[in-house]
Amino acid sequence: MTLNERLFAAGLLPAFDEALASRDRVALAEMLTAVDTNPGLANALLGEGYECWFCGSGISREHTDALHLGLSNLWNDAIAAPTQTIYAHFDCAHKRMRGAKMEIERETFSLDEADT
Ligand SMILES: [Zn+2]
Repeated sequence: MTLNERLFAAGLLPAFDEALASRDRVALAEMLTAVDTNPGLANALLGEGYECWFCGSGISREHTDALHLGLSNLWNDAIAAPTQTIYAHFDCAHKRMRGAKMEIERETFSLDEADT
């Protein structure tokens, strides 16, 4: 069953279209969950293909200091070592990845700095 068919069967199609038009992410996620569909799809439907690892909200181009984090095993020497990629708003990562002695530096990732 397609998403539209699921929404129609659940009587949610008009409300879903309305939520999409008003970009109501919370309502979209609730309705997607109600029809057994991944609520993360709301981000793609809103044109925000990246989801913040920490807060779960979409990351758009307006978040100019958003982060791409590649994780891999420290000791794996293989050239193509398996990696996991996560995305995050800078502020979310800064708050949740606070180090014991260091912190993530916003100016390192600022696009404005790169232009100068
Ligand atoms: Zn976030």
